[in-house]
Formats: sequence, structure tokens, C-alpha cells
Amino acid sequence: MSVLDEHSFALCLTHDVDRPYKTYQSLYYAVRDRRPGHLLDLLPWREPFWTFEDIMRMEEDLGVRSAFYFLNEQHLFHDRPPREWVRPENWMLYLGRYSLDDPDIRALVRRLDDGGWEVGLHGSYGSYRDRGRLAFERERLESVLGGRVLGGRQHHLNLDRPQTWRYQADVGLRYDTSLGSSDGYGFQHGYDPIRPFDDEFVVFPLTLMEAALPAVRSAPERAWDECERLLADARDNGAVMTVLWHPCYFSDRDFPNYGGLYRRLVERALDMGAWVGPPGDLYRDLDHATAADREPASTAAAPPDARSDEERFGAQATGQD
Ligand SMILES: [Zn+2]
Repeated sequence: MSVLDEHSFALCLTHDVDRPYKTYQSLYYAVRDRRPGHLLDLLPWREPFWTFEDIMRMEEDLGVRSAFYFLNEQHLFHDRPPREWVRPENWMLYLGRYSLDDPDIRALVRRLDDGGWEVGLHGSYGSYRDRGRLAFERERLESVLGGRVLGGRQHHLNLDRPQTWRYQADVGLRYDTSLGSSDGYGFQHGYDPIRPFDDEFVVFPLTLMEAALPAVRSAPERAWDECERLLADARDNGAVMTVLWHPCYFSDRDFPNYGGLYRRLVERALDMGAWVGPPGDLYRDLDHATAADREPASTAAAPPDARSDEERFGAQATGQD
């Protein structure tokens, strides 16, 4: 008996931990918005993007848990060749990140794990085509966690299909949630988890990233209508719906209304009879008997879908953060 048999649909909650500290952004916003007040956020006791306590409190209050995916991005000056140091696009990509050696980050990882949250891997920008790097990042995170990392999502939704999934499976990851878009949302990749290799490796398509919603700041009710439409679509089709809210979006001063929208989404899903939780919990609950296990020997040799992976999953998609 799966949770999907007992609930109208599943809502998987995920958070990509990209920038827990508002460092470079403070300067950027101060200049862009001509609001020097943002510079106050550089003071050491003000960390508006460190929203983890708020998120944990909110989810505890709602009686749910989620997944936090941690990034181990390469350092521009330590890990990248000097020719890349001068390119401004690399400053945003590699600078202002965090380290898994940061004691606050290590304490956070352990606290999340102790409290029943899932800790997963946010594969660094170039790792989607670098099996060695992916293996290193997984091992590194597991050493901080002191336990097994089951899955996660690639940074910027970078994906070579199906090669990235092959790499992820090779390094021992069991699921991925990178298949989606940073500017569109919905069930364009179907309502169900995908098994690209017809084995125990599972892809949970990303249904909604918060940044893709329209008018959240100016007309939050319009954004809510879209959330409600997606929830109804999920319920009507017994779907697995996966959402991504970056932790910095819970800073109401920087991203007004996004935190409230997240709470409302979870509350409504629970009201509608959904199972709500982290993808890792759902993964453990799924029946991982493969088609080959289920079919009689005579038919097991025929692939369940004769189309190529390219036809089934389309071309490469990239998104932001
Ligand atoms: Zn990211």
C-alpha cells in the first residue's frame, strides 16, 4: 500500500540552498534600486537570507517536512582557471556562495536531519556533465550529514538527458528533480514519476518554481489562482506535484508574499487530502519492482517504450539557480 493509494495526490516540497547569505546582492540591490538601506544587510547580525529557522517553524506548524538541497559550488579562484576569473558572468556563478566547511552550514545540515527533514544534493553548475565532480559532491555532503543522500536537483536545472541521470545513478543517487523550467510551470512532463532506465532510478519532474509565478508582488491573488489551478490539476490526475521555494524567497522584505503563498499552498494541499513531504520519503514509499520483474520472461525483453530517450524527454533544458 503506497501513500499514493491512500491520498488524492502527492505534493513534494523542496528548497535549493543557493545563497544563504545576502552579500553581493546587498550591493547589487542598493545600486539597482537606489536604496542604500540594502547595505545595512551587510551588517554581521543581519542575515535576511538565513531563513531556515522561519521555514522549519512554518513547516513544523503545518505538520510537514521538506527537502533542502545543498550546493558545493566550485570556487572561482581556487578551482577555476585564471582565464575565467575576469568574466563577470562567472562572478555571479561562483562568488558569494557558501562552503560545506562553514560551521553554521554544518550545524544546519545536522539540525535538519535530526528534525526529520531531508538533506539532498544540489549538484553544482557544471556537475551535470561531470560524473567525477558529482561523486565528489555527494561524498562531501554525506560526510557532513553522516548518512546517505538519496537524491536532489542540478543547479540552474542543468540537464543532459539522459546522460546526467546516468551519472547521478552511477554515483549512487536514487532520484532527480531537475526536469522542469524556471519560467514555466505545470505538468508538461506528465503527472507521474518517470523511470528513464526502467529501474529504481526515479525522476520527479519539477512542477513549479516560485520565480515562475506571475504577479506575486503586485497581485498575489493572481499568483494564488495559478497555484490553486495546479493543485486541482494534481488532484484530478492523482499526480506527484513537486515545488521549489528557494530559502531567500522567505525573506518577506526582499521577496514580499512568496512565503505566505508557500504556506497557503501547503495548507490547501493538506485540506485536499494530499500527502505532503520531501521527495526522499515518497521515493522510499514507491514500489521499485521494475517492468522486467513484473513481466513474464517472454515479454520482459521488449522495452516498455520504444522511443529514444531524446524523443521521450526532449532537448536539454536550462533554467536559473
Ligand atoms: Zn541552484
